[in-house]
Amino acid sequence: MITTLKHIVESFIQQPVLERALEQVVTDVKVAMKTQCCSIYFADHEQQDYQLMATDGLAREAVGHIRVGFSQGLVSLVGQREEPVNIANAPSHPRFLVAPEAKEDAYNAFLGAPIIHQRKVLGVISVQQSESRHFDEDEVAFLVTLAAQLASVIAHAKIRDLLEKPTVTQQHNHKYLRGVPGSSGIAIGQAYVHKPVINFESVLQKKHHNLDKELTKLDLALAHTQEQLSKLSDKVGMLLPSDASAIFDVYKHLLNDPVFIERIQSEIKSGWSVATALKTVVEETVEEFEQIDDEYIKERITDVKDVCQRLLVNLLAKDIARRKPPREMILVAEEVTASLLVELSGQKIKGICSRLGSSNSHATILARAFGIPAVMGLVNLPVNTLDGHELVLDGYSGQIHITPDESVVKEYQRLANEEEELAATVQQTAELEAETIDGTQIDLFINTGLSADLDCAKDILTSGIGLYRTEIPFMVRDRFPTENEQVALYQSVLNAYPHQSVTMRTLDVGGDKPLPYFPIEEDNPFLGWRGIRLTLDHPEIQLVQIRAMLRANMATQNLSILLPMVTSVAEVQEAKRLIHQAHSELSEELGTKVPWPKIGVMIEVPATIYQIEQLSKLVDYFSIGTNDLTQYLLAVDRNNARVAGLYDYYHPGVIQALLAIVRQCQQAKKPVTVCGEMAGEPIGLILLLAMGYRQFSMSAHNLLKAKWILRNISIQDTLDMLEDIEALSCPKQIKDFMFIRLEKVGLGGFVRAGK
Ligand code: PEP
Ligand code: MG
Repeated sequence: MITTLKHIVESFIQQPVLERALEQVVTDVKVAMKTQCCSIYFADHEQQDYQLMATDGLAREAVGHIRVGFSQGLVSLVGQREEPVNIANAPSHPRFLVAPEAKEDAYNAFLGAPIIHQRKVLGVISVQQSESRHFDEDEVAFLVTLAAQLASVIAHAKIRDLLEKPTVTQQHNHKYLRGVPGSSGIAIGQAYVHKPVINFESVLQKKHHNLDKELTKLDLALAHTQEQLSKLSDKVGMLLPSDASAIFDVYKHLLNDPVFIERIQSEIKSGWSVATALKTVVEETVEEFEQIDDEYIKERITDVKDVCQRLLVNLLAKDIARRKPPREMILVAEEVTASLLVELSGQKIKGICSRLGSSNSHATILARAFGIPAVMGLVNLPVNTLDGHELVLDGYSGQIHITPDESVVKEYQRLANEEEELAATVQQTAELEAETIDGTQIDLFINTGLSADLDCAKDILTSGIGLYRTEIPFMVRDRFPTENEQVALYQSVLNAYPHQSVTMRTLDVGGDKPLPYFPIEEDNPFLGWRGIRLTLDHPEIQLVQIRAMLRANMATQNLSILLPMVTSVAEVQEAKRLIHQAHSELSEELGTKVPWPKIGVMIEVPATIYQIEQLSKLVDYFSIGTNDLTQYLLAVDRNNARVAGLYDYYHPGVIQALLAIVRQCQQAKKPVTVCGEMAGEPIGLILLLAMGYRQFSMSAHNLLKAKWILRNISIQDTLDMLEDIEALSCPKQIKDFMFIRLEKVGLGGFVRAGK
């Protein structure tokens, strides 16, 4: 059964024209189920009816003509019930509708299954037979399984089809897709689809006649590609601080990898042309990596493909004229890579849409550093048909609108304008204190990972750095940074705020944050070996990092160390033991007492909420990672576009947990900061203020907005709002309510723009 299903779905996908694909499916299903008729109907939610789209068994002329209203006939009954309907004698059923043009008099048995994608009924697939009988359990299971598998491919094909057809009306063409928010902001513009001038699919199996010539071609292409990458690396170095250009070192090292080069050479030596040899090695390498179901390796595949693609172009298509990218664009690609972004950085990239990639891909990290709104992981993105289409990209929610209605464009344009105006308004607070109307002092800190963030915040008065994500400089390299490299890196961060506190988190890799050079294979990485679990198992990594932090802190003495993904007291005891060890070894080596840092724990695993009292005996402060805390409290993967709608900081469960945490921290007399994205969202900030939080750390882009809000609200206002929302039970109600209340105090614009 699995093979038949797979075969049917694959032949659907391979057929580029939707009508033909549907015709193919109905015939395949009719044959596979040994029945006499199979038909597919699509729901038209505007017309409120189902339209016959393909049939093998009813009159072909009826296709496109038969339409049955949402409350008529058996097909609609399937859609209404959202479950299979199995009837032995359909003509005697009260919902049976006679449609003479269908010529279905010969059939008695009817089985229909709904085709549902993201909770919406897209259509119905039915089979019919003259023999009056109920379809058996296996047949029902087959049709239901097939309908479920077809749902997403039909949804994808429908979008592709709409885009390929000449516009009927704007209204009918508007589609939206949901991906993963990569970088916040709104972009409106025309799609520019980046496609390589030549790809590996077009490389044929060819033998060569001259070994030396072929090996020379390889050497030249390698050298040329190296040169290109160096230029890109220099370019990114000019655009962003030096730590970002480390991304290109990864590419350069791959190109220098002797094993990789020897594999290509050996293929050439066995007679294959250089392009064929390269294709074989890339395919083998990618296949080897793909066997390993692991996020870390997947990121590596992107690097390999990207570098080899460049190599191929340099081998075969150096002189082929490339399509000139437009001056302004929303960049669309199968996979937007870091190198592509830098290459196009001369143009105005208004936004980024990528079918592959996650919120932690290299390209996403760069997009955030460049301040370009991005949506990644758009699995149903019809890349090849998007060129030139108008797009609206919402980097806050991770949605894109394709050929949007005028009203959608207008609404987003208004939001974008408001954002611009707000940016100008909030700029006035740059040098002012963060305090509420009633004079309550608040600490606003910066979240950073690349020093570009610090550049962005350099003219803003803040309390320092509340979260330095040390994994980011680790992620953009191709090996662990040495102790000295780390010292230099940390010194630059500590020196940026020499008189204020700088919180450095120990390496928080694992989960969705891959280190390409430290692969981990896990079925469930978010519940696996990440954060402190990994570094405690590798004290050699942890100790080097702590030594580097302590050494970097000698002059400024403003370091706080933060431990991520803590689940139990024992982990903190062990981490402290390592900090003590590094501290005493270093003091001995340097012959002086090394300053002792503050030590804190992140509250992001729900279990820690119940251990604050014990933990507070071991540490100086707490910091709440609302991104992970929300993920774990709600059991929703923060990077999975399918469940993105369920991931919500305003879930009453999350709000109650945050209330419990602040009360316990107050009881334990320990400072607590909120460093997840929630603190940078206007509603989040206000609710957290009301709960009693007074320290927040957020991305540099949100700092000014947050300061403006603080300076325009009183604690009493926030308390009133919290009291009212405690009675509400769903996140949407809470957000809608807060919007109305904020409008009343003149802060409504902030919420709409950041929604
Ligand atoms: C968090 O989980 O909220 C957090 C700040 O850490 P990260 O987003 O880096 O996991
Ligand atoms: Mg976290």
